[in-house]
Amino acid sequence: MKVALWTFLIVMPLAAAPGTVKVRNGGKIVEIPMERYVAAVLAGESSVFQSEEALKAMAVAARTYAVRMRGRHGPEGFDLCDTTHCQRLDLKSVTSRLENAAAETVGELLWFQGKPAFTPYTRDCGGTTEDAASVWPDLATPYLKSHSDPYCVRVSDTPWRWNADPRQIGRALRQSGLRGPTLLDRIGITERTRSGRASILTLAGGTESVRISASSFRFAIGRELGWNTVRGDKYEVHSSNGRLIFEGTGEGHGVGLCQRGSEQMGLTGRSYHEILAFYFAGTAVGLTGQGLSWQRLGGETMSLLTTRPDQDRVALAAAERLGRSLSARVRLPLPSGIELRVYPDLDTFRNITGEPGWVAAHTEGRRIHLQPVALLHSHDALESALSHELLHVMVESQAARDLPVWFREGLVEFLSGQRIAADVRISEDADLRQTTDAAAARRAYASAAATVSSLVRTYGETTVLDWVKRGLPADVTKAKTSQEPAKSK
Ligand SMILES: [Zn+2]
Ligand SMILES: [Zn+2]
Ligand SMILES: [Zn+2]
Repeated sequence: MKVALWTFLIVMPLAAAPGTVKVRNGGKIVEIPMERYVAAVLAGESSVFQSEEALKAMAVAARTYAVRMRGRHGPEGFDLCDTTHCQRLDLKSVTSRLENAAAETVGELLWFQGKPAFTPYTRDCGGTTEDAASVWPDLATPYLKSHSDPYCVRVSDTPWRWNADPRQIGRALRQSGLRGPTLLDRIGITERTRSGRASILTLAGGTESVRISASSFRFAIGRELGWNTVRGDKYEVHSSNGRLIFEGTGEGHGVGLCQRGSEQMGLTGRSYHEILAFYFAGTAVGLTGQGLSWQRLGGETMSLLTTRPDQDRVALAAAERLGRSLSARVRLPLPSGIELRVYPDLDTFRNITGEPGWVAAHTEGRRIHLQPVALLHSHDALESALSHELLHVMVESQAARDLPVWFREGLVEFLSGQRIAADVRISEDADLRQTTDAAAARRAYASAAATVSSLVRTYGETTVLDWVKRGLPADVTKAKTSQEPAKSK
């Protein structure tokens, strides 16, 4: 089940850097939160992984790739496509295991000299990774040099073989707008990369001979005849009985993270940090360009993840104190294992939660994401944001299934002491959930709180709190679903 997300609003100017990506998915353009995108790439590119650490390494690589390549389809009106051209996306096959791999590395990117790295990955490098310079000369970089990979070859050498009628190949090339000889009968490997992969092919037939790049050739064949044909560029080719026979090892372009190798590293106890360091040597995993990474502070009942422990320790102490007093007041237990994450800056918070800057905090299950403590302090919002989110954690852990969103939000606002004059009116879920209009969201929250406050005046706080577990009584629900405009009784 999808976990509901809860937020606390403060009014702040919007910053740049949206936490969402616009993707073209099955012909439609959709905007999705970054972490959902990462989980969908895991479903599309590495759902068969057995190692959790290898999955996490892929999550960091996929996220970094998206941040670095975001906007490459800008002229077409979206950021990234859903094919292997960018990253293969499978939104329908996201499982909680894949969501977890994204959540456990949430927001982490691979950095090189203060910028997100270029993080391609390949199915199987066949024992030697490829230098990025041989495949994408513009993207050559020190951390993408060819090196040997002892891990993927441990499982098997994965040889492959494919043969085809030369006329089939000629047709496939024409479909992709590539020119070959009229009557193709031989293919020679004219140039190879330093790792031994084909880079330039000569296609010959009759008196004609045409030079073509091996990767254009492979993509043309893949698109037309399927990707299980010429699987990578590490192969030999010869002709026999009128057919062209390809025999190779490895799959994909061979650059960057080798999926088969990282799976082996993970299965033999290496961490995702070690996997990324092996395939992208010289980069650093972190939340920001300074390579900041989480440190965990343990409290009595909760823990806090921060990049600046000295500065943020105060939030942990405040949360524990508020958690105890609120739990006693509302007579709901404080769940164990609550985790607070305090982000080092607003952009990082936005990138990771997908929330606009006027949302101060964001809760999923028992994990509370917070804007930088200094920023919350400057808006006098640290205690109110913490109270709001802790109350959500308590209410949500006990809530009846059909408890409406307006009641959950209104109750939390009311209990955390928000008293803004507003109409007693049932707020639409859509108004409470939207993240584009701060003023409309504030009105919706205030009305929800005013409604709960009027219910408390009518029925008493004990009774209203009881409804968290039992659900709303029929007379309240009826009044609320009558769709009549603001009427206070
Ligand atoms: Zn809320
Ligand atoms: Zn693309
Ligand atoms: Zn490999």
